[in-house]
Amino acid sequence: MDVWTVDDIAELKVEQATGEILWVWTHEDHREQGHATALYRQAHADLNGQIYHAPDGHRTDDGDRFATRVGGPTLTCGCCADLDDDSYQED
Ligand SMILES: [Zn+2]
Repeated sequence: MDVWTVDDIAELKVEQATGEILWVWTHEDHREQGHATALYRQAHADLNGQIYHAPDGHRTDDGDRFATRVGGPTLTCGCCADLDDDSYQED
């Protein structure tokens, strides 16, 4: 696992094998200041773009907001692939 940090303010962890973002965190006193976004940009550069948001169904609410804010590619997974099919209704 690779970790990018701003000491005690923000942290971004990425799974080395897949490039999946496992964890993103910003201290509550330092949110909305762009720290997590800056870490994402740095990780993106360090990994030559091989960094991916977790699949939609695997994200926390914070992770989902983060992915929406910074943009960039998202991993797909097998386990959640047919969630959308649950809207099918039988008579
Ligand atoms: Zn899944």
